[in-house]
Amino acid sequence: MSNYDKYEIVIGLEVHTQLNTKTKIFAADETDFGAEPNSHISPITLGLPGVLPKLNNDVLEKAIKLGIALNCTINKENHFARKNYFYADLPKGYQISQDALPICVGGFVEITVHDEVKKIALTRIHMEEDAGKNNHELDPDFSLIDLNRAGIPLLEIVSEPDIRSSDEAYAYVTELRKLVRYLDICDGNMEEGSMRCDANVSVRLKGETNYRNRVEVKNMNSIRNVKRAIDVEVKRQIDLYEAGEVVEQETRSFNQADGTSFSLRTKENAHDYRYFPEPDLPPVVILQEKLEAIKASMPALPNVLKQQFMSAYQLSAYDAQLITDDKEISNYYLQIIQHTTNYKAAANWLNNEIKSYLKDIDISFVDFAVKPNQIAQIIQLVDDNTVSSSGAKLIFKSMAEGNQHTAKEIATALQLVQTNNADELSNWIEQALQKYPDKVKEYQNGKKGNLNLFIGEVMKLSRGSSDPKKLTALLQEKLQEKS
Ligand code: ADP
Ligand code: MG
Repeated sequence: MSNYDKYEIVIGLEVHTQLNTKTKIFAADETDFGAEPNSHISPITLGLPGVLPKLNNDVLEKAIKLGIALNCTINKENHFARKNYFYADLPKGYQISQDALPICVGGFVEITVHDEVKKIALTRIHMEEDAGKNNHELDPDFSLIDLNRAGIPLLEIVSEPDIRSSDEAYAYVTELRKLVRYLDICDGNMEEGSMRCDANVSVRLKGETNYRNRVEVKNMNSIRNVKRAIDVEVKRQIDLYEAGEVVEQETRSFNQADGTSFSLRTKENAHDYRYFPEPDLPPVVILQEKLEAIKASMPALPNVLKQQFMSAYQLSAYDAQLITDDKEISNYYLQIIQHTTNYKAAANWLNNEIKSYLKDIDISFVDFAVKPNQIAQIIQLVDDNTVSSSGAKLIFKSMAEGNQHTAKEIATALQLVQTNNADELSNWIEQALQKYPDKVKEYQNGKKGNLNLFIGEVMKLSRGSSDPKKLTALLQEKLQEKS
């Protein structure tokens, strides 16, 4: 047993999701990403004296949706609190957040790792406002501050320390990102920072019952980097313990470029936020009718869709999982099967041809030229033997390049229609057999492999338009007759 195997990994994640509301959490300022710096800042965002924040109802509804989707208890009365700290990107000197009574408590995220299903318990989800953004790179002498982000709504999702490996952490964040995209509450884009994850990591000897000191690692800009940062931190901690040292409780920043981390602050200078109730905002009260209405308005969630795809369309768990991993893909699937009942073929097209095409040319569904009903047309042509499966791929390729004609029209134009005309087929077969009299003899003397040669020859003569099944049958019949 190596030293690393003696230890158990303990991880709790804090995930911040930026809500895609039109306006900020307490003000009417716009929220779009990439606007001219400091162009979306009202007196409320700046916290000037005498202003009053007002909760954006869209934030509340999106928080409730996520709480329902994650099986949380929704606190029908919940409170905002001031989290006090001084920082240049926080003009008010405090952040409006939630503390003792957040909107959601409990709940869980269900993950599957190595075919094992596990529920990761949630501590809470709370609403809060984002801070502004400092920029230390644009000017050699000054730090610049853009306050457009100040007041953008966030949901912070805090897990219990239930996660036991970096793979589980990876699956957890992937699952959350999938959910917020399904719910259409956040774009889940970690690269742009609209979803951010802090990892709290500790290790302990297997069998040990108390948790040890944890280290919070920040600044990972992708799910892959969350996993990397955890792996690096776990190794650092085990190496320290094995060297007889202790792990300090601290906050570290991950450097994606070289996979190392450095200390931001230790416990000694940890924040004391002096939370107190936000006096400018009344308690949030959620009526039962509102809860019911929101529940009724929610889209089907991926795990429900997956079950539905398996039971209603007889898809394998594997196919159903792949399709429901992404909202756009499952929507596309639902559209294809409005035009065909070959559910399996529709799943295959999505999971193979379409996905690899999108990946190859690096575009998303938004820019994908082929419409779901066109895919259904191709499926139909294959099913009724009009085209072969390789012909179908050529039709797909033509459509993906923008060809607007129907699958049938394209098949005709590209001469992909398989010939069902027995006379014509007989003719080609006759020609092929005449071309290779020796090979015919060989075949009759038992060299059955020569059949492929004749098939190839007929395919050449028919420019690929022969239906391989019919051709094979007819060919065997002819060879029989000749012997
Ligand atoms: P804080 O308010 O200082 O951020 P919390 O108690 O809210 O502290 O914990 C933050 C996160 O740290 C939670 O996700 C929690 O699960 C996780 N956590 C707490 N203790 C440990 C530990 N010993 N090892 C790993 N993660 C931990
Ligand atoms: Mg924390």
